[in-house]
Amino acid sequence: MSEANSMKGDYVQMDEVGWAQFPAHLCKGDIKFKLLHVSPERGGWTAIYSCKAGSSFLPHIHLGPSEYFLLKGRMQVRGGEAAGGATAVAPGYAYEVCDVHHDHTEFDEDSELLMIVYGALNYVDDEGNTTALIGPSQMLDLWNASR
Ligand code: ZN
Repeated sequence: MSEANSMKGDYVQMDEVGWAQFPAHLCKGDIKFKLLHVSPERGGWTAIYSCKAGSSFLPHIHLGPSEYFLLKGRMQVRGGEAAGGATAVAPGYAYEVCDVHHDHTEFDEDSELLMIVYGALNYVDDEGNTTALIGPSQMLDLWNASR
């Protein structure tokens, strides 16, 4: 996977790529990821995440739509069904619209998900201030810095 070949297509032998630690300013607990593809032409990326029980993504807003395929485990989205959100149980697929707010995305068991993201993710603090804006080039930087 490299930025230069994104316009020519990509192939990743996923079991030959090691996991990288997802950075602590974007999540709580132990989340690892493999960046599979970045697409500057669609402003997005594709990645697989391995999320240990008790981990969560910090609050963020999707500036474009996204799709995920939960391969393993369980993910509480927007706090889960008990809090008016959704609970995804593997194998589960979702398409989420632009501008969705993910204030609570938690994993109560070891989980794995493939994410296809269009547009940047706007990570926000409790007051709604941007703490990180993660588009394809930032994801590539995170990936390169974490390996
Ligand atoms: Zn999200």
